Amino acid sequence: MCRELRTPAIDSNHAEDKFSMTREATISKAEAYFDSGAFKADLAHLVAIPTESQSPDRAETLLTYIETEMRPLLESLGFTCRALNHPKAKAPFLFAERIEDRSMPTIFGYGHGDVVRGLDKNWSEGLSPWILTERDKRWYGRGVVDNKGQHLINIAGLRAVLETRGKLGFNAKYLIEMGEEVGSPGLRELCHEQRDLLAADVLIASDGPRLNAERPTIFLGSRGVITFDMTITARQGGHHSGNWGGLLSDPAIQLAHALASITSPTGQIRIHEWVPKELPAAVRRVLTDCEVDGGPDGPSIDLEWGEPGLTPAEQVFGWCSFDVLAMKAGVSETPVNAVPPSAWARCQLRFVVGVDPGEVLPALRRHLDRHGFSMVQISEGGDELFNATRLDPEDAWVTWVAASLAKTTGKQPAILPNIGGSLPNDIFSELLNLRTIWVPHSYPGCSQHAPNEHLPVAIAREGLAMMAGLYWDLGTGHTPPLDRGS
Ligand SMILES: [Zn+2]
Repeated sequence: MCRELRTPAIDSNHAEDKFSMTREATISKAEAYFDSGAFKADLAHLVAIPTESQSPDRAETLLTYIETEMRPLLESLGFTCRALNHPKAKAPFLFAERIEDRSMPTIFGYGHGDVVRGLDKNWSEGLSPWILTERDKRWYGRGVVDNKGQHLINIAGLRAVLETRGKLGFNAKYLIEMGEEVGSPGLRELCHEQRDLLAADVLIASDGPRLNAERPTIFLGSRGVITFDMTITARQGGHHSGNWGGLLSDPAIQLAHALASITSPTGQIRIHEWVPKELPAAVRRVLTDCEVDGGPDGPSIDLEWGEPGLTPAEQVFGWCSFDVLAMKAGVSETPVNAVPPSAWARCQLRFVVGVDPGEVLPALRRHLDRHGFSMVQISEGGDELFNATRLDPEDAWVTWVAASLAKTTGKQPAILPNIGGSLPNDIFSELLNLRTIWVPHSYPGCSQHAPNEHLPVAIAREGLAMMAGLYWDLGTGHTPPLDRGS
């Protein structure tokens, strides 16, 4: 059976008036779809498919999402779909395109249909990851924000334009993957091999959080991340601290000193290769009106922590941060009277554009050797390295998209040069050479990856209106110039 978005009952008296050919009509269509309950029902249907990519026995389910949900849905909007396989990926990628006129801008969309594990037992009473449930003006369910709800909003926005204008007025390409939560295996290789097929001008996609629940947000890239271990192995086995303490070096103390040499006591990074030379003026400008706020349940910010002189927004969106994620020496659960034989810490650097990821660990090595810590071994932590990316916040397309969102919502969107977290955005920005403009439909307190993942109803409705308006505007012929053929 062919899957299509549910259609709300539309008052047919309106069908003929000239209002039906306008931006407002497009947004009204999207809102009517939402207000009728049809969007909620469509999202509930997708949430009920347990697309847990971290679970080895979900391969069939991943394929179902692509073949029996996304493909017919996009085909119903006039997209031509094909599955793209890559040996590293657990499920095929779905590639969809709707080419109207090659001279018009081509907008690249991206979403992922897989979710992290449901963690069924840990959700609050009465909630389940696979049953979309409304409570306190929020929809609970696995994937409502990461990422099913977000790409459904965008696809519904495309539909609203098609129903109003009869065409998009631009070309659309869409890539949906089913392995984002396991590190997007094969995505990088696929985009490299298929770069002609995937060629486009601008990425407009949705993932991650807004700056806060109320404020529409655009982000233009992501911080990079590198995770690594610092280990000191002094000798085999522990030795009695009464007989040997004072005679044997203590790796726990040495490692604590080594870590302490990396930052000031208040967290300022002291390895100069780990921070950018400066905070660019354009980045500072767009961040002036951005306030970091985790909401009522969020932690309070330690203003004295990190790089001195930066606002919280500059700290997390414009600068780098170093953290010790975990550390261990001796038998921490049941301490014994012994000089521990070894000490270990897992560390992480989040970094912005301007830091050379290939220099992070060599610079650490030099720093440790210089400070007398040559006994510390450094090894990569296994997680995939993400590069830092950022489109110029003053790029004409950024200003143009922000104006479109402002027109729809009456609010000035926050423009973040990058999110604090990490995405494989360089695949799009570097490999596919796209301007990357993300319009998130979530907020920092959404509990993605945890029990009780939820989407505030107001964000979903506003997101739908924003995307309908934005896609409408993209087809008006009044977009900023493209620099093709460069
Ligand atoms: Zn995720």
